[in-house]
Amino acid sequence: KNIPKNILITGGAGFIGSHVVRRLVSKYPHYKIFNLDALTYAGNLENLKDIEEAPNYDFIKGDITNANFVNDLFAKHKFIGVIHLAAESHVDRSISHPLSFVQTNILGTVNLLNASLELTKSNPDFLFYHISTDEVYGSLGETGFFTETTAYNPNSPYSASKASSDHFVRAYGETYNLPFIISNCSNNYGPNQFPEKLIPLFINNIIKNKPLPVYGDGNYTRDWLYVIDHAAAIDLVFHQGRKGETYNIGGFNEWKNIKLTQLLCRLMDKKLNRQTGTSEKLITFVKDRPGHDLRYAIDATKIKQQLGWEPSVTFEDGLEKTIDWYFENRQWLNHVTTGDYLEYYKKQYQQ
Ligand code: NAD
Repeated sequence: KNIPKNILITGGAGFIGSHVVRRLVSKYPHYKIFNLDALTYAGNLENLKDIEEAPNYDFIKGDITNANFVNDLFAKHKFIGVIHLAAESHVDRSISHPLSFVQTNILGTVNLLNASLELTKSNPDFLFYHISTDEVYGSLGETGFFTETTAYNPNSPYSASKASSDHFVRAYGETYNLPFIISNCSNNYGPNQFPEKLIPLFINNIIKNKPLPVYGDGNYTRDWLYVIDHAAAIDLVFHQGRKGETYNIGGFNEWKNIKLTQLLCRLMDKKLNRQTGTSEKLITFVKDRPGHDLRYAIDATKIKQQLGWEPSVTFEDGLEKTIDWYFENRQWLNHVTTGDYLEYYKKQYQQ
């Protein structure tokens, strides 16, 4: 009766995964949470220092592209559910190295699906929960929203690999009756995000007085969600979502990149006690990303109506919390911005 329920979270050392791991370890003592992560450049166990000693938590270093390893792991721990976040996640890297996106995001996902099928034979309550992105839907014009029934139309190697993995998950549901749920979320921001993504990149650059590279004319529009609100949504969908369904998750919070950058600059000037306008001087427009999607916007009505989820913080509060976190965790930032990252950054922005 007291046997813990084993749950596998993949990619738990990454940005979003670490928040999901922390939430589930803290909230559900009767679960044993296994965090499987290959610790690529994006994975960092420092993200989970505060819970690493918890009795209901275990870290496993391993690669989801290795089918034998994945099969053995599933046979050993008989997970009752999988929350799959492990992925190559950065669009710019997918443009320079598409194949690693095929390997981790597609092959890795199919390996997990195959191992999951074995477990459904003895446990019909098993659930495979796949975490995906709104980028699979492609680009919107000035108006309209992505809903759960919007046709897939991915434009980058990253979104094409995520779209493919979503299709495999749904196909395993149809073909083999694998119980699954998929959620597609908009851009996340918050503590622990690797500083190649816009918000932490710009916070880091403002601290160091480096230019803020804004793509094109800065009119690209994204919906932003605080990562802790995404983790809450994932918890809710995992426990109460309907099997076989998709949920769109978003912040009802659209921003043009340039407006977002200006807001961030104002908040950083305040934080650094600088005259308003100081950080904005660092903005530099850089050559556009190829295949850049103009606008993403999520209609998150379904999850709100069906499961009662909505974001808990406003964008300005979330940004302030994020800025505070990066100031309080300079060491984390210094650790992740040395070595390989510097090389990548130099190549990417030719600085
Ligand atoms: P991230 O890059 O911060 O973390 C990914 C994690 O996966 C890292 O810890 C990495 O070590 C691990 N990983 C990579 N390849 C692996 C492999 N082959 N085997 C095992 N582990 C491996 O990514 P993130 O931003 O936290 O995103 C997590 C998931 O959420 C991804 O699936 C992503 O597509 C999705 N998502 C992200 C966003 C966003 O804004 N960041 C939005 C919507 C959906």
